[in-house]
Order: sequence, then C-alpha cells, then structure tokens
Amino acid sequence: APVIGVLALQGDVREHLHVLETLGARPLAVRRESELASVDGLVVPGGESTTMAKLARIFELLEPLRSRIAGGLPVFGTCAGMILLADRIEDGVVGQETLGGLDITVRRNAFGRQVDSFETSLEFAGLAERVHAVFIRAPWVEAVGDGVEVLSRVPDDAANGPAAGRIVAVRQGPLMATSFHPEVGGDGRVHRMFVDLVKQS
Ligand code: GLN
Repeated sequence: APVIGVLALQGDVREHLHVLETLGARPLAVRRESELASVDGLVVPGGESTTMAKLARIFELLEPLRSRIAGGLPVFGTCAGMILLADRIEDGVVGQETLGGLDITVRRNAFGRQVDSFETSLEFAGLAERVHAVFIRAPWVEAVGDGVEVLSRVPDDAANGPAAGRIVAVRQGPLMATSFHPEVGGDGRVHRMFVDLVKQS
C-alpha cells in the first residue's frame, strides 16, 4: 500500500488520516523533511492557509514541499490545501505564500457572508453518484490554465447567486484540489480517486 502523508502543521489532519486508513493506504502525519521524503503522496488539509504557510516556513518545509511538487509528487489539497497548491491567490493577505503547482487562480473566502459555510451535493467527474460537499469559509477557483481538468462545479443555477457555475474541484497531472472537505462526512470516494492517482504514478 502507498504511504500517503498528511501535512500536519495545522488544520483537520486527523480526519484525513482516518479516511486514508479506511481506504487501506498507509497514512503518515508529516511535520519534518525526513517524513516528507518517505511519502508516495501527500494531502494538504483544510485549516488556515496563511497559518499553514507560515508554519511550513518555520518548520523548513516550504522549499522541500515545492521541490517534491516540482518532482511530480501527487498532492491532494482540500480548502486551505487548495489555496496552498494554487499558483495565484485573489483576496489573500499581503505577501501570502503558496506552494504552487496548480495552474489556477483561487479566491479565498469566496462564498461570502450569507453562505460562509454550507453543505450541498455535487456532481463530480469520474464518480457515478453525487458527492456530499461541506464548504467551510471555502475558496473557489476563479480561473484555470489549459492543462487543468475541472472535476466539479457549483450548479449553474440562478439560486446559487454569485457562486453559480463556480469551479470547486480540479486536477492537473498528479495534483488534485477541492474547495470543500471530502474528509468530513464519511464519503471516501474522492480520497479513493487520489489513492488511485498515487498508485498510478
Ligand atoms: N478560509 C481558509 C483560508 O483561507 C480556508 C478554510 C478551510 O480550509 N476550511 O485558508
């Protein structure tokens, strides 16, 4: 079974470790460069992207993470993890650093005050049944580059207001990201997709 790390600086680390465990992967909490070096894939959890980036710098993981991503490490980012994987951020704090790798522009805290946090079900490319999606002060994807596959969008329905049609899940080569939290709510299918991606690479 592949060793799949979860970046364990801040955020909902335990939830991801648990889902990976139930899928038969070998999960590993990653806080040091030596741990990062031993993983076949990595999850960057939800939490607070600015805090996670600062801690990654303090723990001297920022450059090692960037170089493993450049070397083709499969990485799955959820929510704050999506922000960290994005090449470009809108509404970030001044000087907010990312790991980058995904040719996308994300808008932080995009859903606005009324729908700050909400749950819905979404169609998801490659999955037969809709995914239960939990959004918590989530980003959306404002724009994608040519090599990026869109996996899921908010339904393009006037009732969804400014969120209608927005991209909330993407893949580019070995990198995957969702605006929402598939680690919350007991549906392992999106993680399964990532575990398969790790096995293929
Ligand atoms: N709003 C957070 C950020 O900007 C992300 C929230 C989350 O991961 N649930 O980093």
